[in-house]
Amino acid sequence: MNIDVLPWHDAPLRSLLSRREKLPHALLLYGRQGIGKVVFARALAQSLLCESPQHGLACGACAACGWFTQANHPDFRELMPEALTADEGDTEATSDPDAKEKKKSKEIKVEQIRGIADFMTLSTHRDGFRVLLIHPAETLNANAANSLLKTLEEPPPRTLILLVTDQIGRLLATIKSRCQRVMVPAPDKTTALAWLKTQRVADADADTALGQAGGAPLSALAFADADYQSQRKAFMQVLAATDADHLAAAQSFEKSDLANVVTWLQTWVNDVVRSRLTGEVQYHCDQKSAIARIAARVHLPALFRYESQLRQTRRAVHHPLNARLLREQLLISYTIAITPA
Ligand SMILES: [Zn+2]
Repeated sequence: MNIDVLPWHDAPLRSLLSRREKLPHALLLYGRQGIGKVVFARALAQSLLCESPQHGLACGACAACGWFTQANHPDFRELMPEALTADEGDTEATSDPDAKEKKKSKEIKVEQIRGIADFMTLSTHRDGFRVLLIHPAETLNANAANSLLKTLEEPPPRTLILLVTDQIGRLLATIKSRCQRVMVPAPDKTTALAWLKTQRVADADADTALGQAGGAPLSALAFADADYQSQRKAFMQVLAATDADHLAAAQSFEKSDLANVVTWLQTWVNDVVRSRLTGEVQYHCDQKSAIARIAARVHLPALFRYESQLRQTRRAVHHPLNARLLREQLLISYTIAITPA
């Protein structure tokens, strides 16, 4: 069957689709990062557009399903920041990671919302639903969000707008109030491990990767990549060396994605705190003794201050003004945070 449904989404998807004629005009799909919310949203869209659904779900075989899987169904649009669209044909190499990050917008712009005005107002091509998917919804910039509000206030008939986010707190209250919220569930550990196995992740790697991903299987799949793991290990060795020049060492991670660097620092600090308080670690089990050594010497309030700095950086991670500067600041602050009082 030609429809992508993650096993832990089957039941909630069918439950939503069982009331397909009574769905509100906008759903806000929220939940943790890395659990497949966009996959969920696409499966919902395909099932609504399918012309012969099977027990609520898309058949995967009709003409509408065919267009949907080839990304050219006339009654479906997907909006995301330019930086997240596939960069096919974009082979221009640059050694400056900042230049690369500036090149494509990490926000959804008002032009993109205006660009779908015809799609939203003209009658549908197939006399069925019209579905607009927007993700990650927190990347809508202020103008784009205000422009979208008008559509949310006066939605065309038989139209479903799907907003997807893992940072629901960052959405405008006016947007949230016009959507019905649906929490997309995360799988339990057994289900997540079984799914990773179907993605050809070896059992031993699956367990480590799932731990680092805090139980989120799609993140774990990315973490199971050998290149990613070797970068992570090298970075952890820098963090583990209490007498190292962290800033200098950080320069060798210039090519690492800023979001990864922030995740590594957050999970590492979380492990240091946990180790101090309980003697256990959650994310970086392979670094347990190094983490315990740092935990024994740190001044916890300094570490908590650093944690909140990391949380603030996390919010800017998709549209950093200067990724290199941010990365350097984080490493300087790290040195300060782990210096004994
Ligand atoms: Zn179909």
